[in-house]
Amino acid sequence: MKGSIKIFKIADISINIHVTFFLLLLIFLNMGMRWLFLIVGIFCFVTLHELSHSLVARKFGIKVKEITLLPIGGVASMSKMPDKPYQEFLISLAGPMLNIFIVIVFYFPLRLWLGAEVLHQFPLSVGTWKLVFAHIYWINLILAVFNLIPAFPMDGGRILRALLAQKMDYQKATKIAVNFGHLFALLFGYIGLIQGHIVLIVIAVFIYMAASSEEMQVDIRETLKKFYIKDIMPSRFLTLQKDTTVSKVLELIFHSHQEDFPIVEGDRMIGFVTRSDIINGIHTLGTSGNIYDIMRKDVPVLREYDSLNKAQNIMQEYNIKSLPVIRDGRVVGVITIEDITRVYAVMAVRR
Ligand SMILES: [Zn+2]
Repeated sequence: MKGSIKIFKIADISINIHVTFFLLLLIFLNMGMRWLFLIVGIFCFVTLHELSHSLVARKFGIKVKEITLLPIGGVASMSKMPDKPYQEFLISLAGPMLNIFIVIVFYFPLRLWLGAEVLHQFPLSVGTWKLVFAHIYWINLILAVFNLIPAFPMDGGRILRALLAQKMDYQKATKIAVNFGHLFALLFGYIGLIQGHIVLIVIAVFIYMAASSEEMQVDIRETLKKFYIKDIMPSRFLTLQKDTTVSKVLELIFHSHQEDFPIVEGDRMIGFVTRSDIINGIHTLGTSGNIYDIMRKDVPVLREYDSLNKAQNIMQEYNIKSLPVIRDGRVVGVITIEDITRVYAVMAVRR
């Protein structure tokens, strides 16, 4: 996520802190060491919650690059949405379940250590160090319960969609879950306003916008599933020989409107360059450089009967804006992300 700093890596996932989070730390530091410890403690469990989602997601082949901590909570960036509703169900449930697990496992040890009176003292406070530990402990229960509220796209809302999607089509299930999300966002916003609770207001705005944006993503995905690469493949495209110079490629870009090229040796594709590879190549090698030295040698390929949704997922996963299309080992075209978004734009107008 933009504006965040990596602090460490665990299970191959970077844990990042967003710059706005430092403001939160500063505010709590000003309130004293016990407050600071409280907030750090809370975010340790927020991180564990997100890690729990991430590790289950990984079981289903979804890559998780990073977890970003924001003042309003944690966000795990996943490479794609789960394919099956039961996967989303388990991934979403994993976060709150981890917090409930912690509540159960630590109850008796903490009761022994802090004493029942301290552990059960409400409202929660930071009056003594022992109360700080009790506070952090109970936050786990609050995290679990709050996240299970069906305010899509919070965990409870995702669980709701997954359950609905067993009975109806995915788009309709999403629509209902999004309505729940909007409703809870308005409710949270209202409570936040009358109680002067700024964090709750921010969460409400975040939920509202995130719900709308996911609804659109699902609409796009479902539309793109109905089209195949062959439906949009441009009839003409250029390939390059491996000894082509970068200056020659620039000339081709200006004259052909094609910006991404398969590199071939005879019939066989040996590499692929995108516009950004070429720009980077000019910076490092100059225009007299050779395309062979800047091409990607290991690039995923598409086939004519792949859906546009699949193509878009691959592009997202590999962070690349175009891909070659292969038939019987030979390149037959190039598809760009613009080709794909154009289809969605046209279909959105027709509806
Ligand atoms: Zn969660």
